[in-house]
Amino acid sequence: MRRAEIVAWGQPLEIHEYPTPEPTGTEVLVRVTACGICHSDLHIHAGYFDLGGGRQIRIEERGVKLPFTMGHEVVGRVERLGPEASGVEVGREYVVYPWIGCGRCEACQRGDELLCLKPRIIGTWVHGGYADHVIVPHPRYLVPFDGIPREVAATYACSGITAWSALAKTGVARPDQTLLLIGVGGVGTNALHLAPHAVPGRVIVADVDPAKRERALAAGAAAAFDPADPQAVRQVKEWTGGGCAAAIDFVGRPETAQFGLDCLVQKGGTLVVVGLYGDRLALPLPLLPLRILTLRGSYVGTLDDLKAVVRLAQAGKVPFIPVRTRPLEEVNAALADLAAGRVIGRQVLVP
Ligand SMILES: [Zn+2]
Ligand SMILES: [Zn+2]
Repeated sequence: MRRAEIVAWGQPLEIHEYPTPEPTGTEVLVRVTACGICHSDLHIHAGYFDLGGGRQIRIEERGVKLPFTMGHEVVGRVERLGPEASGVEVGREYVVYPWIGCGRCEACQRGDELLCLKPRIIGTWVHGGYADHVIVPHPRYLVPFDGIPREVAATYACSGITAWSALAKTGVARPDQTLLLIGVGGVGTNALHLAPHAVPGRVIVADVDPAKRERALAAGAAAAFDPADPQAVRQVKEWTGGGCAAAIDFVGRPETAQFGLDCLVQKGGTLVVVGLYGDRLALPLPLLPLRILTLRGSYVGTLDDLKAVVRLAQAGKVPFIPVRTRPLEEVNAALADLAAGRVIGRQVLVP
């Protein structure tokens, strides 16, 4: 089998040959047919997350060793089953749920795999889908997606469930409330498409890119604002008649989070931070109690979230995001295009 792997943090990926692994126990060997390139892959590739103030989370210190194969938005055909694996068909294609825990701790036993402290996440902890084969530890992580293009289904494994799970955390419960989506790239666009099925209120967007604002309006946003415009907060307050009940920050920079906080209703608003861009926010603490603010983070989503998003897409309720397929050999060019902001929708590797 071939893997496009990180051999040195931040350096070009290299494609190397390995023996194709034999699935043991409940494992399933999957022949990768599509693998989305996620923005967080840029951070993994660089080897760190920026915490601001010169501090970083180094991926190596979390226990990830090089060479390492990224890729957590995987679709593939079941090729071979371990002796204890059942419930999936050899030859059929599935989208792989990658956010997998140890399976033994209390959190995993409860089904809260995202809270596991010893994760086995495909593409961020164990070798992922920038390869022609991947090992999935159990058939239950394979979700059928008949009726959806495989390149689109792949993006639901991260981008789709990240949007879906963040929407569920906004607390928007009434049609007179407004939800603000900050940053309408891949995940933000998925959120815009999924919002009518998750929150009853109006959805508006903010993005510095006029082309993205245009596309968001065409995709159903009730209004679009340029957060770089000094009048933007006042415009949002006027448009909403007092502010947004909630905002989701899909960028995760100090400026975008601050913009979200500034656009919230005077009291009782919620800011959900999803983006991992980096750096830090200076937040006057008295504002948390005085404005009864909720500031929370959301990270990817559960296996049930993936099934829910796939069901909605199968029912024709979610427009498919634009995808561009590229061969595995173009992985470095694809990462460079993503880093430079040259990508519309999602790039998907076809190994
Ligand atoms: Zn991702
Ligand atoms: Zn666990």
